[in-house]
This record gives sequence, C-alpha cells and structure tokens, in this order.
Amino acid sequence: MRIETILVRGAHDPHNDTGAVAVPIYQSATFSHPGVGKSTGFDYARSQNPTREPLERQVALLENGTEAMAFASGMAALDALMGLFAPGDHLLATADLYGGSVRLFDVLTRRVGLKVDYLDTNDARLLKEKIRPETRGVFLETPSNPMTNVTDIRMVKKTVGEDILVVADNTFLTPYLQRPLDLGADLVLHSGTKYLGGHNDTLAGFIVTRSAEMAEKLRFITKTVGTGLAPFDSFLILRGLKTLHLRMERAEENARAAALFLQGHPHVERVFYPGLPEHPGRLVSQTQASGFGAMLSFEVDSARRAEKLLETVTLILYAESLGGVETLVTYPFLQTHADVPEATRLSLGITDRLLRLSMGVENSQDLLDDLERALK
Ligand SMILES: *Cc1c(COP(=O)(O)O)cnc(C)c1O
Repeated sequence: MRIETILVRGAHDPHNDTGAVAVPIYQSATFSHPGVGKSTGFDYARSQNPTREPLERQVALLENGTEAMAFASGMAALDALMGLFAPGDHLLATADLYGGSVRLFDVLTRRVGLKVDYLDTNDARLLKEKIRPETRGVFLETPSNPMTNVTDIRMVKKTVGEDILVVADNTFLTPYLQRPLDLGADLVLHSGTKYLGGHNDTLAGFIVTRSAEMAEKLRFITKTVGTGLAPFDSFLILRGLKTLHLRMERAEENARAAALFLQGHPHVERVFYPGLPEHPGRLVSQTQASGFGAMLSFEVDSARRAEKLLETVTLILYAESLGGVETLVTYPFLQTHADVPEATRLSLGITDRLLRLSMGVENSQDLLDDLERALK
C-alpha cells in the first residue's frame, strides 16, 4: 500500500464483528482473561490498549519501522528514549534543537550523568571531531527549529558508524515527506501533537524503531513507566492521520506563498525556508525528502516590529506549537527557546527580530493579507 492509503485506512481492519470503520475508543484499564495463562493480547492498559495498538502499527507502517510506540507527549517519548543510555554516555545533538528537548537533555545531563554536546550536525568534519569513545547517540532534527537548517541523514549515519545510534526527530516533515529510517537513522521521534494529530487539540509522541531489539527495550520502559497514550487521545491522533497528506500539501503551498511574500517585503530582512532556491539546505533536502514542509522563520528589521506583528495579526494566532490546521506565529526568542542561554540563542540566529510561522491550511491570500497588515 502507498502512503496515502496507509494514512486513510491505517492498520485497522473494518471487517470486524461490528463493521466499525473507525477504531473504537476502548476505555478499559484492564482486560479479562479467557483462561489460565491465556490472554486476548490485552491484559492491562499501561502495557497496551486496543485503541493505541492500531495507531502504533499505523505509525510503524508510515515510517517503515519494525514497531512504533505512542506516548502521552513528544517529551514523554524523548524521556523514554533516554532510558536507552547509561550514566557516562555521551550524545551529540543538532545545535538549534527544539527548546524542550534542550531542557530535557540539560536536566538529564546533571541528574543522570549523560553528557550532550550541541553542534551543526550537517558538518561531517565537526561530527567526527566530537565523537568520543563513550559517544552512544546522535540526536538530530531536520529541518531544524527555528532556523530550518537541513542535516543530511545518510551522511550522519555514514560518518558516525553502526555503533552510534542515530535518532531523527521527524516532527517537522512527517513520514509523508521524509522517512529517516530509510535514510539510515536507527530511531525516529515525533511530537504527534503537531502534524500527525494536526488539529491543535491533543498531545502525543512517538518513537519508531528499526530493530526488534531496540523495540523490546523501549516497550519495557513504557510498560513499566506508564507514559503510553490514552485511548481517547489515540483515537484523536488516528483521526488526524487520515488527512495528513492533504493537510501537508496544502500547508506547504501556503508556506511557499508566505516565504515568497515575506522575501519581497521591505521590512523583512531574511527568510529561512528550505524551499527557497537560495536556502543552503535545499539540495540535500531534495535528496532525502519529497517536500519542504510548512515551517518557516523570518527576520524583521527591528524588535519593535516583531512585537507589533505579534500583537496585530488577527487571523494568524500568536501561540506556541505548530503543525495544526491553524496558522500560528511564535517568537522563539521569548517562547520555544527562552531556556537556551542567550549567547547560544544569538549565535544560532535566534534574535529578538526572528519570528516563526507554522502555516496552516486556511486561504492563502487571507494569510498574506493578515501578514501585510501586521507588517505595516
Ligand atoms: C513540540 C516538539 C517536541 C515536543 O513534543 P510535545 O508533544 O510538545 O511534548 C519535540 N520536538 C519537536 C521538533 C517539537 O516541535
């Protein structure tokens, strides 16, 4: 089956007893056993639940992985993933990572003795230089947040070798546009809160594995800790997935229009979007993804203007998060990246003049009109 069909039909078999086309919400904490030592496959909902299970199988199919695990949030997924490492292990990570991931890494660095170094993961020479005998993983986001830097996933795997786990946060492009496991990554992470859910109404996270061994370790962690996704939230993500392809196509169209509009605006100094011909990551992006996504950032000519835009947009909402049908604008300097030290923020280009747009699926001209008004 091709990806659009997997999105619509998922891993659910509607030829069941009831003929239910949608996966029902099994709001049950425990499941009765048909006999001693027998199980229906479901025992206790911390381990597995019949609404979460088809969602996990669907996401595994979408990412071409062996298994997927659904969590209560993207951060819960990342936290579970940290359970694969031991005190003293060293990780490498993309410099302008999602701020919440940086916070989790930095808290963990102190508490459990993991060390994390940040770098431009697309620089093979630098990657080689930073690898230590205790380096166990590389954590990357491509395109990155909010600077839209592109990392060549095949190159990273080739550079770090088999023994170092390559983890790709695929939240921005989703499996509809990019499948990191096919490019050599060992694990994929998602904030399902974003495009997979797509409606700004549910928190969720995923880990997708390439090996059965890794899946077993992660299953053990989730069943022990109980951070798996609840039945109703699983249902909402299942529903969101059915239209992922349509939403991504439309949001990308809106992103392209916004990038071109902003590029031509006298109060905008720079636009960061991998789909623009002069973006340094455009070529790599074309070799590993089938689209450029719908996230872009831009720098206006003063901090005052950035603030004014946030206060005068009306259709576009000034809110954190991304990947939903509603277009959102955020101020990374004060929001998503507020916990990143100021010197680091500035060196990455996250200034008080930088704004990030997550394009939704509204009418393109209405969005441009809103930006035009707010930039006056
Ligand atoms: C939002 C986000 C996360 C965290 O996910 P939550 O669902 O908010 O916990 C991780 N990575 C990226 C790229 C994100 O955008």
